[in-house]
Amino acid sequence: LGEKISCALQKMRNSTVVDEGVLNECINEINRELIIADVDYQLLSNMVNRIKEAVVHRPVGHNKRIAIEQAVFKELFKMLDPGKPSFTPEKGKTSVVILVGLQGSGKTTTCTKYAYYYKKKGFKPALVCADTFRACALDQLSKMHKKPRSLSLEGARFYTVIDPVEVAVEGVELFKKETRDLIIVDTSGRHKQDNDLFEELRQLSEATKPDLVIFVMDSSIGKAAFSQARAFKQSVAVGAVIVTKMDGHAKGGGALSAIAATKSPVIFIGNGERVDDFEDFDVDRFVRRLLGKYFLFMNKIHEVVPMDQQSELLQKCSKGDLSLRMIFELSSNMDHLIQVFSKLPKLVELDRGKEGMAKAKAMMNSMTNEELDSSNPVKLINESRKKRIARGSGCKIHEVTKLIEMYKELAKKYWSLMKGFKMPKKGDMNALSRS
Ligand code: GDP
Ligand code: MG
Repeated sequence: LGEKISCALQKMRNSTVVDEGVLNECINEINRELIIADVDYQLLSNMVNRIKEAVVHRPVGHNKRIAIEQAVFKELFKMLDPGKPSFTPEKGKTSVVILVGLQGSGKTTTCTKYAYYYKKKGFKPALVCADTFRACALDQLSKMHKKPRSLSLEGARFYTVIDPVEVAVEGVELFKKETRDLIIVDTSGRHKQDNDLFEELRQLSEATKPDLVIFVMDSSIGKAAFSQARAFKQSVAVGAVIVTKMDGHAKGGGALSAIAATKSPVIFIGNGERVDDFEDFDVDRFVRRLLGKYFLFMNKIHEVVPMDQQSELLQKCSKGDLSLRMIFELSSNMDHLIQVFSKLPKLVELDRGKEGMAKAKAMMNSMTNEELDSSNPVKLINESRKKRIARGSGCKIHEVTKLIEMYKELAKKYWSLMKGFKMPKKGDMNALSRS
């Protein structure tokens, strides 16, 4: 979903002039995607109207493209907000939380993460394993607690017998007597949604009267998200969603559908197999991820680079022709991007700290203009030049080498972001800013 949306936005960006036709095509494409995802029709048509309005009423001097992008951004934010907060456990009160979802979606893992999260906040959580379908489920739960990072869950207790509903009821009763304030019930999932499962979940929910039912969704299921979430919502009162495996390739567009289907908020994101690979859901970060690095990059360019220089810069980016000077001007203005790019280990050392930036500046001050403005400084800066630059800037030779390595990595990154970018013909950039 996110991919298609950012694809539509990209197409719009690549067109020379944004006229009614281009605007409509872009909006229709986004619309189509959301319709396929079964987003409520009324919701959608309101969204489209608001985007169109935002373009008409954009501030004087604002580019149409930016107005559309920002409107899409805002609308996505709205869609991620179901309008009502989810139930949150309170310390000292007994809360019963049930996790449901298909097998493999990450329920058992998430139970532990959820327990650990609240344990750290001072709760006394307990886990009930009502997954009698999977023989090793209990074992899996207890094993996870032996992993070094989860030791502090010590004292959590486990309970299981054969009938899942019985297990759940007995487990919940037992832990209530122990005055546990957060009782988490793990359920079974099966490979496919079937009536047996839904009947079991319905009974289980009826018998244990949970304060919250959480739908656990694997972020990589894509289009299936809506129907899956709806199927669970129809049998149990889902009140929140947790999206797992966000550390993988999925952008998590399915979360939009799950929110629409369950009318419940996403509360946490699972981003790894370990017990603390778990984070609060952050709408802003999520939307950025959904729309992709490209979107982020373009927005930042509009923000930090003067209009009349954008064209040249983008063109050079897309050809892989960025000079050292350009890269550093860009990078020093791009805090978000640095986060994105900081996955590159080499960059972290120089880019993060102020000291690294100051060093880079000192080294660049010792370079010639030719070296700074060349699209291939690697060729110009040979060993003897490196020595000179190091001496001139009071840095070490290996630091000059690192700076150049960094430049190479960044130039490659920018290039790979921009290589599909088609530049408007000369002179059209002005039309673009007016359009
Ligand atoms: P269940 O069948 O719903 O209980 O799913 P499990 O909790 O057993 O998880 C299925 C698999 O997904 C296991 O191998 C987990 O380690 C893995 N898993 C769960 N959550 C995450 C996550 O956030 N990231 C990654 N990478 N793997 C996860
Ligand atoms: Mg399980």
